[in-house]
Amino acid sequence: MDFCNCTCQNLLSASKRTHFYNWLTFVTRHFHLPLTRQLQRMAKKEMVKPLLGNDFEIHQYDLQKIDVGILGTGDFARSLASRLVSSGYGVIIGSRHPKRAAALFPTVNEVIGQREAIGKVNIVFVAVYREHYSTLSELRDVLTGKILVDVSNNLQVNVYEESNAEHLASLFPECTVVKAFNVISAWALQFGARDGDKQVLICSDSREARCIVAQMAQNMGFIPVDLGSLSSAKEIENLPLRLFPSWKIPMLLALALFVFFYIYNFLRSVIHPYVMKRQNTFYKIPIDLVNVTLPCVAFVMLSLVYLPGVLAAIFQLRSGTKYKRFPRWLDQWLQQRKQLGLLSFFCAALHAVYSLCLPMRRSARYKLLNEAFTQFKHNKDDAWVEEEVWRMEIYLFFGILAIGMLSLLAVTSLPTVAGSLNWREFTFIQSRLGCAALVISTLHTLTFGWCKAFESAQYKFYLPPTFTIALIVPCTVLLAKVYLFLPFVSRKLTRIRRGWEANRHLMFHEEGDVSRFSDFNAENTSLV
Ligand code: NAP
Repeated sequence: MDFCNCTCQNLLSASKRTHFYNWLTFVTRHFHLPLTRQLQRMAKKEMVKPLLGNDFEIHQYDLQKIDVGILGTGDFARSLASRLVSSGYGVIIGSRHPKRAAALFPTVNEVIGQREAIGKVNIVFVAVYREHYSTLSELRDVLTGKILVDVSNNLQVNVYEESNAEHLASLFPECTVVKAFNVISAWALQFGARDGDKQVLICSDSREARCIVAQMAQNMGFIPVDLGSLSSAKEIENLPLRLFPSWKIPMLLALALFVFFYIYNFLRSVIHPYVMKRQNTFYKIPIDLVNVTLPCVAFVMLSLVYLPGVLAAIFQLRSGTKYKRFPRWLDQWLQQRKQLGLLSFFCAALHAVYSLCLPMRRSARYKLLNEAFTQFKHNKDDAWVEEEVWRMEIYLFFGILAIGMLSLLAVTSLPTVAGSLNWREFTFIQSRLGCAALVISTLHTLTFGWCKAFESAQYKFYLPPTFTIALIVPCTVLLAKVYLFLPFVSRKLTRIRRGWEANRHLMFHEEGDVSRFSDFNAENTSLV
């Protein structure tokens, strides 16, 4: 990354120091920045220093202790000013009404007129909305040669054809415009990078200006990310406006599954008894129906995490190479497995909470009492049914195990946890344990259903029991997985994934199996 050249640590190497000195000279020559003279002197001094230095010496290279200007006195300007001050910068605020605005800032900040403020600094943060950029045109003469940092955001994605930063650059062609800090909220600026987003995306047509702003972001505790030229500004401006882009399809899918299973259960458990026996079971709508719908959604969503992997494997087996691109829909599906998995966990967790709350309901208590009365009436003093007892024990055992495994999968998909695992550990948990979770969830569902699938009374309105519908996709995935685990299939797949191609006469040697796979082609693959 470009910024690496500017980091203090890299300046410890002699070549980087020369580079640092060179760009300072360039900035002075091209931007006529008086501030760089001091830095130039500093850099010159550093050129003769020994290569190894301690942390204290490293900080001598910082671009801190320079004054920066902020145009605007709104929320963002105030937070930015306080963050800059706490990071060691001098801040001069330029306002249209400096007297009124001065009360909003601590006394360390100089709040003066816009023209006066710009005259004192070389880097100006433009903390005003795009709609007001044109009102700054009267400051063109003082702005000439300065670095303008555009922090603006729009209200909607792609609302203007040209990005705000490019628009600012077109209004002030004699300035160097840098797009930065728009992805950081005023709140995150005020309370520090620890609680908010850490990355500051930066772009500009001037590499040197990008470098200066990147260094500032770093000094303020953020992580600068170089996105190159100013043409990336639109992408950076659209980022804070997107609403969970990678969650859209998984959420819609979860919603569609929920609606489908809810209506299915509603027909079977509420409408059917009402139509057939005039039995009122509408009380089931808020809790019972939701509780039987949630596990179906969780179960199918979990299988949808593993289905694209199976499809990808079949695609590779069929095309005999890993170098052929997957269809776009499969590519997207593969990328959204994490979201599908987390939504599955969410539904499963809700199902667990709902299930624990079931005995608290009045309806459950009345049902229990009614059963007791009936038994009493029939002179029955023991309600114990051995088969039911065992079914319930096994059913709950698998349920608890499944939710535990899903929790583990969800936790390890968090970036901080995933980052602490190596690739093998991560794939072991996500792939092997994930499949185990799918198997256990299937067993949980089967023990719930037991032999209901074979009882004709369960086919209400000729609709099979809900659990049989929920089992279709997961069982298909598990059967496909079993097929892919068959030795002759898995070996072929492993070879393909290691670069072997069916259409080429490629030498391929596996450890301990030197001669067998040489000279493979499409015809003899079936022999393996
Ligand atoms: P704000 O509170 O409305 O402040 C805007 C400031 O612009 C005013 O205080 C005003 O200061 C100044 N200004 C200059 N010329 C103006 C004109 N002709 N008409 C009206 N005001 C004018 O807005 P903000 O929340 O600080 O946001 C400022 C910029 O930062 C926006 O571009 C926004 O997209 C961006 N941003 C904000 C956040 C956030 O969390 N708030 C986050 C990221 C980016 P004077 O009256 O003193 O001149």
